[in-house]
Amino acid sequence: GSADIQCDMLVLGAGPGGYSAAFRAADLGMNTVLVERYATLGGVCLNVGCIPSKALLHVAAVIDETSHMEAMGIKFEKPSIDIDKLRAHKDKVISKMTGGLAGMAKGRKVNVVQGVGQFVGPNHLEVATADGGRKTIGFKQAIIAAGSSVVKLPFVPEDERIVDSTGALELRQVPKRMLVIGGGIIGLEMATVYSTLGARIDVVEMLDGLMQGADRDLVKVWQKFNEKRFDRIMTKTKTVGVEALPEGIKVTFESAEAGGTAPEPQLYDMVLVAVGRSPNGKKISADKAGVAVNERGFIPVDAQMRTNVPHIFAIGDLVGQPMLAHKAVHEAHVAAEAAAGQKSFFDARVIPSVAYTDPEVAWVGMTEDEAKAKGVKLEKGLFPWAASGRAVANGRDEGFTKLLFDAETHRIVGGGIVGTHAGDMIGEIALAIEMGADAVDIGKTIHPHPTLGESIGMAAEVFEGVCTDLP
Ligand code: FAD
Repeated sequence: GSADIQCDMLVLGAGPGGYSAAFRAADLGMNTVLVERYATLGGVCLNVGCIPSKALLHVAAVIDETSHMEAMGIKFEKPSIDIDKLRAHKDKVISKMTGGLAGMAKGRKVNVVQGVGQFVGPNHLEVATADGGRKTIGFKQAIIAAGSSVVKLPFVPEDERIVDSTGALELRQVPKRMLVIGGGIIGLEMATVYSTLGARIDVVEMLDGLMQGADRDLVKVWQKFNEKRFDRIMTKTKTVGVEALPEGIKVTFESAEAGGTAPEPQLYDMVLVAVGRSPNGKKISADKAGVAVNERGFIPVDAQMRTNVPHIFAIGDLVGQPMLAHKAVHEAHVAAEAAAGQKSFFDARVIPSVAYTDPEVAWVGMTEDEAKAKGVKLEKGLFPWAASGRAVANGRDEGFTKLLFDAETHRIVGGGIVGTHAGDMIGEIALAIEMGADAVDIGKTIHPHPTLGESIGMAAEVFEGVCTDLP
């Protein structure tokens, strides 16, 4: 059929998946069109996700750090917080990053079309543009990177005191009392920010523990360190009612256990709903292109990120868990390279996860809890940060570094770190797993002293029985 724009490669959605795919496709010589409904590139991650949350978490970490320094003889005044200025800083961080992307798109001659895209055929996408017009884009190949949206709770009313992660990141005000529904990474990161800024916070989680997916021993350290940060952490507790009253948001709880007791209903000034994200697969008329979407809205793909339609690929939050930016970027490169005829496959052994809380919790590969559940026999090397000169010098020695090895080959299969800067260190363990390193390889690698990263080498030595002088 006729099209207003004709291209080799159409990319739908400009999040970390979409922009990475478009840039790689353009670099490989394809005439590329990138369709995005919002005015800025970067998707959830840059605009309302990873980056703004980290801008605020940095501020929280600095404030928290000062409070730990009284024990070192350094007492700071209570910080005065100019929330308008903080919000402006966060917005500036976003615009710097999204502006950088716009420049990179331009430099590569990627044609960015703003509007909402819907497939109208196997080689055509229709875009409803911001000015009310319509554009048809004809494509030879396509990469769908339409991402995910927040999951809503059906019984939660519309009220400006009730927000999702996007609303929380807007940072309109700091409430006195706040409830965070959902004890996952996103909820706990926002809880960290708001509590440091002065809110009293309750966290409610239906399951039996926070930060599902991470080993319980890591989470336990985080929880102990944060005992005073929160009024209460209610696990195994369901939120069953949310009412917007003039005096506050009234929330009702129920025990998730048969016969269990739940807390009394509570009044909050602000409620953050952070109960997960669901893929946007059903919102793009994928069926018009013949692309299969499963019941939950995910688009099934093969190891080259190809959908059931050979010239259409899908990547990122849209194709499955874990919904993380670094996974989306990696998949984007595979898809663009495969579309260019290269033999690229997604064969990453592991994808690291990080909660950028205080302390940070990071893990990669197999966890102990997972090994137990699967009956896999693992052995571990654990290095407590109380034995790390650097952690002690920092006054932050609550953490530990744990490496998990195959019981027979002693090759590393997983690892976890809880402590400050854990997220910055977990990449080394991911590399070791990808390289098939064993405990000796890691233990004999000279790490700089005194660093927190050194704890990875020490954990391997603990496992080898070389390092025994632990406190
Ligand atoms: P998205 O980023 O969701 O991008 C999809 C894009 O497609 C969007 O811009 C959307 O507007 C556009 N789009 C969708 N449908 C259409 C359509 N029909 N027409 C036009 N455009 C369309 N991940 C991490 O790895 N680290 C973190 O620290 C982290 N922190 C997070 C914090 C928060 C608060 C949230 C919400 C998420 C966080 N994530 C983090 C997750 C991360 O943001 C996502 O995994 C990542 O953005 C997924 O990238 P994507 O390209 O698949 O999709």
